[in-house]
Amino acid sequence: MRVLITGGAGFIGSHLCDRLLSEGHEVICMDNLVTGSVKNIDHIRHPGFKFFQYDVTNYLYVDGDLDYILHLASPASPIDYLELPIHTLKVGSLGTHKALGLAKEKGARFFLASTSEVYGDPLVHPQKEDYWGNVNPVGPRGVYDEAKRFSEAMTMAYHRYHKLDTRIVRIFNTYGPRMRSHDGRAIPEFMNQALAGKDITVFGDGSQTRSFCYISDLIEGIYRLMMSNENMPVNIGNPEEMTILDMAKEIIKLTGSRSRIVFRDLPVDDPRVRQPDITKAKTLFGWEPKVALEEGLKKTIEFFREA
Ligand code: NAD
Ligand code: UDP
Repeated sequence: MRVLITGGAGFIGSHLCDRLLSEGHEVICMDNLVTGSVKNIDHIRHPGFKFFQYDVTNYLYVDGDLDYILHLASPASPIDYLELPIHTLKVGSLGTHKALGLAKEKGARFFLASTSEVYGDPLVHPQKEDYWGNVNPVGPRGVYDEAKRFSEAMTMAYHRYHKLDTRIVRIFNTYGPRMRSHDGRAIPEFMNQALAGKDITVFGDGSQTRSFCYISDLIEGIYRLMMSNENMPVNIGNPEEMTILDMAKEIIKLTGSRSRIVFRDLPVDDPRVRQPDITKAKTLFGWEPKVALEEGLKKTIEFFREA
């Protein structure tokens, strides 16, 4: 297949470029590098790989046929989307519209990277795909959550009205090598604080929960969903739920750090709990995560030590 990946120079996008090339596909990576980096794709020497620095909110033109468009372009970490609120809304709305338009023009399948944030601060736990969510549209996180909810609605409209063949993945917190050390997400932040012997900043009392998935498991889930026939959203994440305070302690233990844990204000609208129900992915295409937390954390710590 000839595949376009928007946001392909980011954390998840770059791992997806690697996977698709290794499966024998051609990959065109399009990224404006607002939160991504060419460092993530520098190692790729494959003749079937091309990179274009481009903002996907502009008119999109790609020469030749396309079989699949994977739309990942969007700031993803809370500090990124709080710093880039308008950009985040534009890439989720205008960018998704442009990417869908290109898929329609080329007769390509379309894959949207959505998020567990569409469930907001969930009132149903764990979260199943048929839960509609609890999102504050006018809170600071609304720029990301609503952009992704709009992207999902737009994708389904192209599917229903234009008969476009579409997929939607709802990605839960994912971690691993190639995250930016200071993108502000809990795992890279805690690891870099621990490795530098600085205080570990836990927000609130740390009793809020998340469920963390290692990058290779996510990529396997994305690939299986791409190849499936499912048009409605599918959760991909690791159901092993833990508190943020326990995550901070685990990272201190695995790095052998002497850092202290300090408590800071909880950001506005920070979800209290989050855990995917992955029954749908298991039933539809036999996916479940394989990498244990300790193994994934060790590999990620190694990456940050070297970086
Ligand atoms: P990332 O910031 O590393 O990657 C996003 C990429 O999109 C970056 O390379 C960035 O430069 C690019 N981008 C942003 N705006 C663009 C634009 N207008 N034009 C072209 N490129 C643009 O983040 P990530 O963690 O790799 O996230 C990738 C996707 O997965 C995002 O859509 C995100 O919402 C989704 N997601 C990620 C997670 C996670 O835990 N990592 C969870 C849920 C959803
Ligand atoms: N968090 C924290 N300290 C940090 C960064 C994040 O305690 O330095 C908390 C944050 O408030 C949230 C959880 O860790 O409750 C996960 O945050 P992250 O930014 O990784 O992802 P998201 O909130 O989008 O799930």
